[in-house]
Order: sequence, then structure tokens, then C-alpha cells
Amino acid sequence: MDKNKIKEEYKKKLKLLIKYNKFYFEKNSPLVEDNEYDKLKEYILFLEEKYIFLKSKFSPKKQVGFKPSKNFIKSKHRIKMLSLSNAFNKEDLINFEKKIINFLNLESKKSFSYSVEPKIDGISASLTYKDGKLVSGLSRGDGNEGELITENLKTISDIPKVIKSKNFPADIDIRGEVFITNSDFENLKDKFANPRNAASGSLRQKNSEETKKIPLRFIAYTFGYIDNLNFEDQSEFLHSLKEWGFKISQFNKVISGIDNLLINHENFENQRYDLDYDIDGLVYKINNFNLQKRLGFAANSPRWAIAHKFSSVSSFSKIIKIDIQVGRTGALTPVAKVKPVNIGGVVVSNATLHNEDEITRKDIRVGDTVKIERAGDVIPHVLEVDLKKRKKNSNKFIFPKKCPSCGSKTEKEYNQITKKYDAVRRCSNEGFDCEKIAIEKIKHFISKDALNIDGLGKKVVERLWELNFIKFPQDVYKLDYKKISKLEGWGEQSVSNLKFSIEKSKEVNLEKFIFSLGIRHIGMENAKIIADFSKNIKNFLDIVSEDKLIDLINIDGIGETQVKSLEKFFKNKINLKVVKDLNEILLIKSRQTNQKGKFKNKSFMFTGKLKDISRAEAKSLIEQNAGSIASTVTKKLDFLVIGEKPTNRKIDQAKNFGIKILTQKEWSELLN
Ligand code: NAD
Repeated sequence: MDKNKIKEEYKKKLKLLIKYNKFYFEKNSPLVEDNEYDKLKEYILFLEEKYIFLKSKFSPKKQVGFKPSKNFIKSKHRIKMLSLSNAFNKEDLINFEKKIINFLNLESKKSFSYSVEPKIDGISASLTYKDGKLVSGLSRGDGNEGELITENLKTISDIPKVIKSKNFPADIDIRGEVFITNSDFENLKDKFANPRNAASGSLRQKNSEETKKIPLRFIAYTFGYIDNLNFEDQSEFLHSLKEWGFKISQFNKVISGIDNLLINHENFENQRYDLDYDIDGLVYKINNFNLQKRLGFAANSPRWAIAHKFSSVSSFSKIIKIDIQVGRTGALTPVAKVKPVNIGGVVVSNATLHNEDEITRKDIRVGDTVKIERAGDVIPHVLEVDLKKRKKNSNKFIFPKKCPSCGSKTEKEYNQITKKYDAVRRCSNEGFDCEKIAIEKIKHFISKDALNIDGLGKKVVERLWELNFIKFPQDVYKLDYKKISKLEGWGEQSVSNLKFSIEKSKEVNLEKFIFSLGIRHIGMENAKIIADFSKNIKNFLDIVSEDKLIDLINIDGIGETQVKSLEKFFKNKINLKVVKDLNEILLIKSRQTNQKGKFKNKSFMFTGKLKDISRAEAKSLIEQNAGSIASTVTKKLDFLVIGEKPTNRKIDQAKNFGIKILTQKEWSELLN
């Protein structure tokens, strides 16, 4: 890459980082997850290190937080309020110590004593006390200037307003973390992404009466300006904070040597879920104040402290109970309800256990302490059980043999090909008389790829179900909009939007309609194949209601599994009624085929594996050229195209009927 391109790339990434900072620190509404933010920051730092000509005052090396919001009066910190550098593993800690040793020009074997403090994931604040009285309070802002939020800070009961202790310095800034507990966050979780954003948003309200309504907490851990430093080390200072009436963390410790730090970190990481507030790591501070003073500060963090972060993709928590969810196709999915734990900035309280076999294989039990992984868009899931923490009297989890929703028996299917039972247990009900299946079927019916009804999201379906407004898909078209407009959260506009999208959905293609029924094993591709075969809704209804389903087995792409599933679905009288009722309401358009093209009026059939092209693509090419795909070898078939390992029976039949047989190459030539 040339120099200009590198500079451009650097600027672009930096601009993005500034935007993320603004949304996170100023608006309390992150645009991306912490993981993604951290990766971007790492990439920018990597660029800076590799190309020394890249320089900017906005470099993450130089920046702290974000400039104070215009909503508040700004005020300068007497001593800068900085961030902390991060360590993720042993190597990072060794490097941290090495740098200290080099800076102080000490012997390489020197080991240090650290004040170890939990890193509460809140926002920091600085409180100025003069003659024992709280006179002002600032947020961190950009480290140089903070927002004057004295009145808001005064609403926090953990913050002493007057301190009478004789040894309390006459002029001092006390610094600490403002945070919110996970249980209090429960009431705010619709407004904020995580407890840290909630604490920051509540603390930085324009009106302190609003802040007062939120139970914010404060834990003190350091000082900024101090008029007379009479302490030797950080642990002694922490002790005094407590004497003066501040809350300090009960987990503060003094530890020497990296190996001991690592042991402590591992223990703490495994039990942090037990606390009612989020901790995203441990802070290690060189305990001795003299050494701290000698080490001083780098651009945006002290040289004498480091935050040893916890993993941002996994954490431990305890299973409170195991719920069984019933899906649209009856699949029973066990979900562990866990004690809420913050994993990389997202509060996780549910983790999937996938299926019955997974529970058995990992022997997962209620009460177990488990390791949960949450990365990117993947649903949080349980990785392993910490057996050391299992109670002696714990019992194996018994998977329900009856559907928790409708009480029908549950079963595991036997796969004739693999000669194994399916890992998933299912409710044997195939219809709308299993409540959970029914709701899921309706959710599927209105979803984007099916009838695509905007304004009828999953939550709305659940609500309308509870109100008995919708029990079957056809009820969507019988809604009483007057009643809906009286419900909480519905306005004239939203009702009219809903009405519009429901009306619009009445015209639907046959393949989408078939897909919308949510029949197991009939995804969009199979729905298209069936639509091609049946051409219009009348034929489709004839096939499904007159025991002609077995005809489908000859269609290319449809197998025994699909036919069996269709049979099971339509054997159920309610399902059949749903389809017939919908046919009365909807305008189901016949399958359109291309009318112009070189294969017009010509039918093709494939047998065997094609080279360099999938069956689906080959079929689509034929359709694009106005040809059609036949499902069986009949007299009417025009061409049989053979790939590798074709079915000889089909070739023999074709020969008997005098049908033209093409190799794949010949077919390609015909196409081109
Ligand atoms: P930080 O929060 O990781 O570390 C510094 C802070 O730790 C201090 O300001 C203080 O508030 C806190 N702290 C808690 N306990 C402490 C103790 N005992 N002693 C000293 N300090 C203590 O650093 P940061 O620069 O404030 O923020 C970076 C974090 O914010 C990262 O985790 C990043 O992922 C996240 N972030 C996310 C986004 C996003 O868009 N998702 C944007 C910006 C930042």
C-alpha cells in the first residue's frame, strides 16, 4: 500500500473510532459491541506502530473518554483523570513489569507488591472536598475537563456530603466508580444496552431529580489532588477511605508477584457472577506511593497501574433453572436460565443447551456453575460444567417426556440412514392445539420470507395471542383494528400502518404461501419445487387433501422425508382447515414461469451429479430460458440430462420412450 492510501485508511478508522466514542461516552448508547470497538482500536494502534508517519492528536494512545457534553458546565480537573492500560494474559503482565523495571532502572528480578482492586464497570467521578464538605463533583469527560455534575452526585447515598474525621485532608479530590447493580438494571434494561451505560446515562441527567430516581452506588478507590499526602501506600489510603465513611470494595487485596496475581485473577473470574454488579477485570496498582510518583504517567494512563481484563467472550455463571422451549416444528430446546453475567458488555441471563443429547453428554444440571460463551452474533451457549463447584446432592436433569406446552408425548426420531436417534426431542403434536407450536407457526407465517407483515413482529404476535385476538394465521385478517387502537402503545399511525401491511400481504405467490405454512422440512427451496409441480393453489389443495402426496416423491429434490412431513402435517384436520380458510382470504398467485426463451415448451430432467454447477443453478438456468423441470420420466419429457453416476432406471425409461438423452456438455452447448 502506498503512503497516501495508508494515511487514508488510518484516518477512516480513526473517524469511526471517534464516532463510536461519542455514542458510547456521550450518548450512552453504543453503536457496536465492546469486542468490535476493541478490535478497531487494536487495529489503529497496530497501524501506528507499523507506520511511524501516522500521527494524530485523536490517537487512542492520547485520548481518554470523550469531550464533556454541551449539556453541562465544563470544569478542569486539578489532576488529570486518565484511563488504564490493559493486560489480557501473563505475557502482558510480564511486559508491564519489565517496562517498570526499565523505567526505574532496577534489577531484573525485582518483584512488586500490588494493590489489587476489582475493576467495577461503571463510570468514574471525582469529588472535591474542602474542609470536610463536598463542594463539587465532576465526571471524567476527556480526562482534562469533566462535566460539573455536583447535584447529581449528591443524590447518591453512598457519597458522604460532610466528613468530620480529624485526619481527613482539608482539600482533596476523592475518585471512585459510580455504578448500578444488576438487579436495579433490570428496571432500566429497555433503555440502556448494559449497566455501565445505564449508570452513565442516569448520572448525567440534566435534572438531578431524575438522577435521584435511580439507585446509583459509589465505591471510592483513589485521590486526584491532595494537599498533603501522608500515606505510604495505596492499601493504607484505601483503609482510610473506609474510616472516612466511603464505601470501598470488600475484595481489595495486596498481592506480590505475577504468578500470584494470575491465580487470584482466575479465582475471581470464576466467581464474579456471584456479585450483583459488573466487574470487567482487576486493577493492579504498584502499592508504594513513592514508586508511583517516580513512574508517573504516559499519555493516557499511569505507568504504575494496569487493568487485567476478564475474557470478553466467555464467563462463568450458575444455572438457576432449565426451561424447555418449544419451537415451530415441535423441537424442544433446553435453555439455561443463569444468574445474569456481563460478557463483553452484554448482560447474559439465558444460554442455550441446544438439545437433550447435549445435556446428557455434558451432564448439565440445575445449580451447576458453567462456562458460557458469547461471541459475535452466536447465541450464548454453555461450554462446560465446573465440576469442582457441583454440590454433592445435585440431581441429573431429567428431560421431559411430555411436551411442557400441550402435554403430548415427546419423541426422538430414528434416522434410517445414520441408524441413530435424532439428538433433538420433539413434541409429537403437529397442529395448533399445542399452544407454543401455534404461536411459533404464526410468527413464521408473518415473517419476512413468508407473508412479510411489517408491524406484526414476534412480540406483537405474543401479545395479540394472549388477548385471544390471534389463534390461527387466518385470524390476522380478521383483526378488530378498533380494539387494537385502544391497546397501550398503539397510536392511530401504527394501527393504520399495520392495516396497510396486512392488506398488502393478501396477495402472495404460491411458493411463499407454501413456505409460510411452516411445515417441517419444507423450506423456501422445497416450497418452490412443490409450487412448480402444483402450479396453482387448486392443484396444491387437491394434492394435499386427496391423498396424492405420494406423487410428490417423484419430483426431483423432494424425498421421503419431505413427503412424510407433508403427510403428517395435512393429516391434521386443523392444519387443513387453516390452509382452506387462508385460500378464501388470500389471493394466491399461480406459479409464474418465464414465457420467452430458447427452451420454451421444452421440459428437462436431470439424473446424476453435475460438474461445476449445482442442481439448483442448472434448474434456474432452464427456467430463465422458459423451460420447465419435469419430475418423472414420462412420454412428455423432452430431454434427460445425465451427470456422473446417473440412475440407470431413468435412462432405461427415457430410452424406452425415445426421449433425447444429453450429456452435461451437450446440454451446456444447447444452452449457449
Ligand atoms: P476502562 O473503563 O477500561 O478503564 C478505566 C476506568 O476504570 C477508569 O476510568 C475507572 O472508571 C475504572 N475503574 C474501575 N475500578 C477502578 C479502580 N479500582 N481503580 C482505577 N480505575 C478503576 O477504560 P475507558 O477508557 O474508560 O473505556 C474503555 C472501555 O470502554 C473498553 O472496555 C471499551 O470496549 C469500552 N468502549 C466501548 C465502546 C463501544 O462503542 N462499544 C466505545 C468506547 C469504549
